[in-house]
Amino acid sequence: MRAAVTITLSNTIPRYICCISFYMKRSATDWPASLKPLLKKYKRSQHPLEAKNAYQWMVMVVLSAQSSDDLINHLAPEFFKKFPDMRALAKADPKSLFPYISKVRNFAHKAQWLVETAKKLKDTNQIPLEMEALVEFPGIGRKSANVIRRGAGLPPDGIIVDLHTIRVANRLGVVDTTNAEKIEKQLMETLPKNEWDAGMAMSFLGREICRPEPECPICLMKRVCAYYNTVIKKKVNRSSPKR
Ligand code: SF4
Repeated sequence: MRAAVTITLSNTIPRYICCISFYMKRSATDWPASLKPLLKKYKRSQHPLEAKNAYQWMVMVVLSAQSSDDLINHLAPEFFKKFPDMRALAKADPKSLFPYISKVRNFAHKAQWLVETAKKLKDTNQIPLEMEALVEFPGIGRKSANVIRRGAGLPPDGIIVDLHTIRVANRLGVVDTTNAEKIEKQLMETLPKNEWDAGMAMSFLGREICRPEPECPICLMKRVCAYYNTVIKKKVNRSSPKR
């Protein structure tokens, strides 16, 4: 039997995710099989951040936390003209980054973190790509490290979980929490390693179709989606005229 539970509001999760009562028991769906069409659809999709190398990935993922990818893409060309590599960034005073990143949320801390990282690494060639090493740098958590590794073309060592993934994974019913770390863990337990790009695939679906106002009728996941099969279908049935 499924129990309806309302997700608790937190400061980091937008209201549209939390205000929905989800059917929290994870379904008996065969997720490795059910997510294959989604993985296929987005397997060649590039991450929305337009980074060109490991240095740019590292800088852009730090800047993008709580700021939009569009904003970071917009300011990146000027930033990288001034600070083309780790060596240039290592010589900079954090305040000299401000004119380039002042529209980014928490920019003063981020400038500090980036220069600190550059001073430690000294050279672009020294950027480590192992998960354990990446998460040691300030401003880089598991999501960012997973994004950097994906950008470098490395096989996933974890699963990317961003705000879109949180929304989509809960609606589908593949996870039963809004905590990003727990979601990554649940997905890693549920899916074989060759499907660990599913977090990014769910993120793409969340950006295009499963937005806060989801477009379920055109969604390729609706057959297995808990939210569609419980909440949306009931709404449609209620609004259909009785004969
Ligand atoms: S069916 Fe609707 S709620 Fe489910 S994943 Fe697709 S768009 Fe989102």
